[in-house]
Amino acid sequence: MGAPLSSWPWAGLGAYKYLLYGPLVAKVAQAWREQGGAPTDSWCLHLLLLLALRSLTHQLWFSYANMLFFTRRRRVVPDGVDFKQIDAEWDWDNMVIMQTLLGAMAISSPLFPAMSELPAWDPRGWAVALLVHVAVSEPGFRWAHRALHRGPLFSQYHSKHHSSPVTQPLTSAYGTPLESLVLTLAMAAPLAGAFLAGAGSVGLLYGHIFAFDYLRCMGYSNVEVISHRAFRAFPLLRYLIYTPTYLSLHHQEKDSNFCLFMPLFDLLGGTVHPRSWELQKEVGQEERPGAGLRVPGARGGRGVLHARAVRVPGVQLAAMDDAPRAAPALARRLLHHGAPGALLQDLHRQLLLPPRRAPPDLDHPALQLPVLHPAHEGRHQPPDRARHPQGRQDGRQGAQPRRAQQERGAQRRRHALRRPAPRPQGPGGARQHAHRRRDTPRDPG
Ligand SMILES: [Zn+2]
Repeated sequence: MGAPLSSWPWAGLGAYKYLLYGPLVAKVAQAWREQGGAPTDSWCLHLLLLLALRSLTHQLWFSYANMLFFTRRRRVVPDGVDFKQIDAEWDWDNMVIMQTLLGAMAISSPLFPAMSELPAWDPRGWAVALLVHVAVSEPGFRWAHRALHRGPLFSQYHSKHHSSPVTQPLTSAYGTPLESLVLTLAMAAPLAGAFLAGAGSVGLLYGHIFAFDYLRCMGYSNVEVISHRAFRAFPLLRYLIYTPTYLSLHHQEKDSNFCLFMPLFDLLGGTVHPRSWELQKEVGQEERPGAGLRVPGARGGRGVLHARAVRVPGVQLAAMDDAPRAAPALARRLLHHGAPGALLQDLHRQLLLPPRRAPPDLDHPALQLPVLHPAHEGRHQPPDRARHPQGRQDGRQGAQPRRAQQERGAQRRRHALRRPAPRPQGPGGARQHAHRRRDTPRDPG
């Protein structure tokens, strides 16, 4: 039994944890049926839409960060992500589930306004939210984050988050329930301030949550996306917005750069890493030695490979050998997703590809009428000889198409069952009969 709020209560449910969304889906379905259309005034519908928006934001940032052909030179930490980290961050969306459930609890409160009363847009709400973010969320998060790095709090609650050696957008949501609660409060405080001030709007709700997720994913993307020239032109800007390099330094060294999004509060607290912007300039300017993709599980300067080389199957197998414990987990997942994949492939074959021809039945060949050659009346000419006049003339057949050989075999079997032809009578009959026997194909049996 670990410390309270150090593990997720639905950790043992596996994929069944998504049943937690069931009540929300049921409420939306009921409202949809009663209203005969999309219940746009239902908070439950907007919670589900926000869930989809947040998942898409994380996914798009994840895809972008893994476009190595495009982002490789701007990777802050050149290492790749290993199997252990992939397994650990598989359930990165626990924080999103928790925040959706907390949102569902909040909307049932009588203090919460009805969705139909909210305007689509209110600029005052944005001003209030920005004020609360700078005055409450930023200093509050930095204080809590720094506290999580001290003493037993780190080992019990925050070490799991820092166990990912290379950050990626999904790492931003990976952690224990306690640190996810801290992050939830930092995200919800500006919204609560704006709504309590009577300046809340639908646009603020969607825009604030999207911006929060976007900045978190950007910081954890491990790809430098902010030019150092912008900071050189506007020096104050470096204290208003953090960069992926800034966040990576915290994730690696853990003793500086604790802020949420604004390094200003690290500056006030004296915890800015001295190389924060110097390293950002290096990342953007040159291709550093070792900048490439390392084989998962082969960190520490060993197995540095170019991205294209990882596509070679042998190298992939070697990478799996380096992660003996992760490989079975990967195999289990392939097995898990194998059945739907095979079904889709089979549907594609059944619906889009032409039907296959049945193989020939050699025991019961199709009946084919013999071809009468005009130059040899009264003789049965094998069809292949008629079609391939360039064939050998010594009575034996050379290499011929498979189908013709099968037809020839069937012809021979029919000849074997037939009674021998009567000996011709009259002058020249013996010579004619011998000539016929010489030209008649021999039965191999
Ligand atoms: Zn930390």
